[in-house]
Amino acid sequence: MKEDCIFCKIVNGKIPSMKVYEDDVCLAYLDINPDSDGHTLIIPKKHYTDIYELPKEVLQHIFDVAKTLMNDLKGKLNCTGYTLMINYGSSQEVKHFHLHIKPQYEDKKFVEFIKHKELLKDTKEVHEIIKGA
Ligand code: AMP
Ligand code: ZN
Repeated sequence: MKEDCIFCKIVNGKIPSMKVYEDDVCLAYLDINPDSDGHTLIIPKKHYTDIYELPKEVLQHIFDVAKTLMNDLKGKLNCTGYTLMINYGSSQEVKHFHLHIKPQYEDKKFVEFIKHKELLKDTKEVHEIIKGA
């Protein structure tokens, strides 16, 4: 637990999040500024700054959860694929390890960036689709 870390605050419930999965080790919630509908972050509940700090058992667990979530979300979101992403160093904005799961949609593949953002659903609506189905 790191006092000034926003993702630690999400784990503690001090900052709200749109949870899609939780267990003893990790938490998954929707990204607040999604790149695609259903853009999800999986984080370890314990504070590890980045991929170098993260114990390999926790990394393995996070990838196991990612694979399960990818299966679960497929039917609910009707996505056709996924991009998994881990940022590090100057590319990593939030210094609490997280794995991005970005659903991809074949019909939006060639839509230009601005148009793509306009086509995104409200994140709360996406959360309801995931939780409700
Ligand atoms: P990065 O550290 O560059 O891999 O990206 C951090 C990600 O965290 C970005 O995609 C942000 O939109 C996302 N993010 C930042 N704050 C929150 C929050 N309070 N809830 C959900 N996602 C967040
Ligand atoms: Zn943290």
